[in-house]
This record gives sequence, C-alpha cells and structure tokens, in this order.
Amino acid sequence: MSVSEKATIICSKCSAETDFVAWKSITTDTDPIFKEKVRSGELYQCICPKCGNVTIIEYDTLYSEVDKDLTIYFVTNKDSYEKAMELLKSDEANSEEEQSGVFRVVTTRAEFREKLLIADAGYDDRAIEILKFITATHVKEVQKIKFDAALFDMQNGKYGFRFFETGKAGIFIPMVEDMYNQVVVDFSPKYPTEEKDNLEVNLNWVINIVKGNNNSFI
Ligand SMILES: [Zn+2]
Repeated sequence: MSVSEKATIICSKCSAETDFVAWKSITTDTDPIFKEKVRSGELYQCICPKCGNVTIIEYDTLYSEVDKDLTIYFVTNKDSYEKAMELLKSDEANSEEEQSGVFRVVTTRAEFREKLLIADAGYDDRAIEILKFITATHVKEVQKIKFDAALFDMQNGKYGFRFFETGKAGIFIPMVEDMYNQVVVDFSPKYPTEEKDNLEVNLNWVINIVKGNNNSFI
C-alpha cells in the first residue's frame, strides 16, 4: 500500500493555495498508476489550479516496483540521507530475512530517472555504471570533450550515455551491446557481495571496484 502526506502549497505566481499530495512510499503492485507518474516527473509537480504555474516539490520517496524486484529510495536532503544509510547499513537491517531484488539509494531526480531507465531497458545498473566510466574515460582522454556529468539515456531508439557540462546536454555516445556483455563477464565477480555495499551504485562505487582491482582497468 502506498503512503501519502498532504501539504498546502502557495503558488509563487498568483498566491493561490493548492492541496498537494506527497507520496512518501509507493508500491506499484497495488498502485500501478505511479509507474507513469514517477517516470514523467508528475509526482513532484504541483500545478496551480488558478494560473497553471508548475511548482517542483521534491520529497523523500521509497519507490517499490515488485514486478521488477526493484526498490529505489530517493532521499532529498543530507539529514534523511544519513538516517537512511545508517538504518540500511545496520546489522539489524542486514540480518533481516533475505531481501530479494535490487535496493538502491539515489539523491537526485536525474539518478532516480536513470535507475528506472536502466531497469526498463533490462540492464544491470552495476555493469552500466562501469561501462559509463569506461565511456567517460574515452570521451575525456581520447575525444578531449569536457563534461561534468554523464547519464544513461536514450536517443533515436538507442541506449547510450549522455554527457553534460554545467547542466547542458552535450554529446551522446551509443552503447555497444557487446561491450556491456563483456563488462558483465569481466566485472561481476568483483561486485561487492554484501548488499549494504551496493546501496549506492554510482561513480564512487565504480572507483572502489577499480581500486580493489590490481589489473589494468581498461
Ligand atoms: Zn497560480
């Protein structure tokens, strides 16, 4: 069952008051409508009924998609992030009955969307993050293209990586399926075995794997 909280939002344009429902916990098996709302971003939009102005309201969301065996915890501030990590990494949480499936913690909407896109495409986000790192290294060192962020994305029906500089979308590099498969073969034995070490699968996670690997990475 999904859990919500109500808040009153005052429109910044016309000052009209709107009731906004924040869905703090979502289970798509009972509420499949949220699959679309979370992907479109509608979940975090408050639309003023008077003037149509859209206010973006981000809040902590525990999102569970049972048919994919996927749970994503989107945390929006430092405080809730620290609390969540402390709880999730505790021995108690880890000794509870075998949790099946994938559990990830994300701190930005971009990461949240990225995790969903990876899951929708049927890929393993751990291999995708490693492949993103390899692609990013190539883009930086061989193509000499500057960027400060990279995200798994889709363009013209192809999956790949989009590079950004100061928030602006730049080059898109299509993903080579064979390279993905090779990453799975080469790196899956190196993934951390404890689930608490796989809560955040991001650049830092990749770097930790690289550090623990004596062989040349690429
Ligand atoms: Zn308004």
